[in-house]
Amino acid sequence: MITILGAGLGGLVLARILHINGMDVRIFESDASASARHQGGMLDMHVETGQAAIEAAGLYEEFRKMVLEEGDAFRILDKTGRVHLAEVGNDLRPEVERGQLRAMLIASLPEGIIRWGHRATAIAAEADGAYTISFANGLS
Ligand SMILES: Cc1cc2nc3c(=O)[nH]c(=O)nc-3n(C[C@H](O)[C@H](O)[C@H](O)COP(=O)(O)OP(=O)(O)OC[C@H]3O[C@@H](n4cnc5c(N)ncnc54)[C@H](O)[C@@H]3O)c2cc1C
Repeated sequence: MITILGAGLGGLVLARILHINGMDVRIFESDASASARHQGGMLDMHVETGQAAIEAAGLYEEFRKMVLEEGDAFRILDKTGRVHLAEVGNDLRPEVERGQLRAMLIASLPEGIIRWGHRATAIAAEADGAYTISFANGLS
């Protein structure tokens, strides 16, 4: 079994890729639930990193549905309304809402893979090559 600590974007996308490739995976996350904490604002998703990971996770079509169209357009105006910089978006770094992206990744994993309320406090290497993880909730 492969253990991942943290159900952030990195941990979730890794778990999804391992899962669809037939690996047994668990995520231990310190937050009590998926909605325990606001996840912040917008993310721009680069072709060679974020988008490549989503593609590898088999979720690209679903991801495109949450893209904020023209969210990558950018303008700087002064207080008189004069435009100093105007960039039209080119969709190379589309903007998505972090919470929505995380929710999509969570929903893409079977129930039970994410163990909420497990804050890792220590990792100990055992003589047989295994590892023991201790959690703040007293489990290990
Ligand atoms: C202000 C800001 C803006 C950003 N903008 C962009 C952007 O526009 N585009 C982009 O691609 N990237 C952006 N990033 C980077 C992106 O957020 C990170 O690459 C991504 O979140 C990393 O994922 P992660 O899973 O490694 O970490 P995180 O998303 O930080 O998740 C870590 C998870 O681990 C949990 N955790 C922590 N400690 C423990 C523990 N001891 N035991 C169990 N669980 C634990 C946390 O609760 C959390 O859920 C931005 C980052 C910041 C800070």
